[in-house]
Amino acid sequence: MSALPATSREWHLVARPQGWPTAEDVALREVPVAELEEGQILVRNRYFSVDPYMRGRMNDVKSYLPPFQIDRPMDGGAAGEVIASRAEGYTVGDHVVHNFGWREIAVVPAAQAYHVDPALAPLSAYLGVLGMTGLTAYVGLFDTAAFREGDTVFVSGAAGAVGSQVGQLARIKGAKRVIGSAGSDEKVKLLTEEYGFDAAFNYKRGPVGEQLAAAAPEGIDVYFDNVGGDHLEAALDALTVHGRIALCGMISLYNSTEPTPAPRNLALAVIKRLRMEGLLVTDHLAERSRFVRDVAGWLASGELKHHETIVEGIEHGFGAFTGMMRGENTGKMIVALS
Ligand code: NAP
Repeated sequence: MSALPATSREWHLVARPQGWPTAEDVALREVPVAELEEGQILVRNRYFSVDPYMRGRMNDVKSYLPPFQIDRPMDGGAAGEVIASRAEGYTVGDHVVHNFGWREIAVVPAAQAYHVDPALAPLSAYLGVLGMTGLTAYVGLFDTAAFREGDTVFVSGAAGAVGSQVGQLARIKGAKRVIGSAGSDEKVKLLTEEYGFDAAFNYKRGPVGEQLAAAAPEGIDVYFDNVGGDHLEAALDALTVHGRIALCGMISLYNSTEPTPAPRNLALAVIKRLRMEGLLVTDHLAERSRFVRDVAGWLASGELKHHETIVEGIEHGFGAFTGMMRGENTGKMIVALS
């Protein structure tokens, strides 16, 4: 058996960003690997996830998750291989997902990890299409937005991890029309040509409200919001009576230093009797097995497609995060470790 690693590199937050995070706010540090205690496993991370919610954890504000601590490793979803175990039910060679990302080697309480099957899908898929972002799309569309066959659905951030899955799930389940917005012409083409969206537009090419009205002349029944701001305002205009909004994320605001004005038309929610509900994927973990069964089936049949943007090397981990915030990813942004 090869010797266990004595050190691991990990990304620490060293300053709280003001506006857009910069390289001065973080540091990649080499640290000793702690001895395993009873009930823990040692995992060699093969992939870790970079996600928009991590921007919020860089701020020192109370939220649904505690802020990252200064001079401590950041965390987040990761997938890897068990290389040592002091926990029942885990043996060397097992593949697991856990929340000790942003590092090469992770000491993980086994109770905070779960097994995944690399024969069913590549390990990276458990961070995206079969992981947290996929579950968000699934529960957000089917539970929060209460999607019904025949709905016209609009999703923003539509070429990203959550958005690309939302649009395709709506199509698979019989949406009348699926519309997406994304930030480049290449992404727009992907939506209509590969993912089967009925219409898509590049929000950088003109006012969202005008482009949405052209794409949905009869209005929309569901808006799945990943972006907030002018997208939410446009959706409020386009929604039909008794329309539904799943508030999943508002990435257009995450680096704002000033309060943002839109949506200015919230009064439409009264006039149209709209329902608007926030969603947190961690409230829905009990649905994971149903989700994996359904989504693995649609992947196997070819009905559901997905992209990953994989950045190689832990030293590029922070660049992958800021790149994702700027839209450099198509589908799930993931960092691969050798
Ligand atoms: P993602 O969509 O894969 O990546 C983020 C994307 O956001 C970028 O690729 C970029 O695409 C887009 N973006 C960045 N700035 C924007 C702006 N100002 N206006 C419009 N689009 C912008 O990320 P994801 O992990 O799937 O997350 C998508 C959303 O879901 C985020 O808001 C996230 O916070 C939320 N989320 C919520 C939960 C929950 O439990 N509520 C769970 C997971 C994710 P373009 O090139 O198209 O601009």
